[in-house]
Amino acid sequence: MIELPEDLKILKRFHGHLGPYVVIGYKMGKIGRQKINGKISAIVRTGTRRPLSCIIDGIQFSSSCTLGKGNISIIDDGKAHATFAGSGLVIDVMLRDEIKKLIDSTMSRDTEEKIAVELFHKDNDELFIVREIESTTFG
Ligand SMILES: [Zn+2]
Repeated sequence: MIELPEDLKILKRFHGHLGPYVVIGYKMGKIGRQKINGKISAIVRTGTRRPLSCIIDGIQFSSSCTLGKGNISIIDDGKAHATFAGSGLVIDVMLRDEIKKLIDSTMSRDTEEKIAVELFHKDNDELFIVREIESTTFG
């Protein structure tokens, strides 16, 4: 058993298991939350098919964009891609293609937790392409 960082223990309890995509979502939501203070909304382009849709739970966990509050919407594009809006900013976060391919080719029930922890410790720059746009139209 791997000793999990505290945040990942709570994330695992919330989501029911710990895999790569819930951690990717967790990190995406944190990027949005760090840049946007106050009112925030998210559009997530994963669709609702697992394991990619696990991203949605990670984002709900860390960004405070939740279905219950109605400030998150899911679009069925099958992409590891989220957009956050608020504070006059639009933050676009996309998982790098090579990381997505690596996850999809290596994850299994036996390896998912190990891969999740490795991803948790990686720098955001290594994992994501982040674009920040100033906007008066959103948020
Ligand atoms: Zn999951």
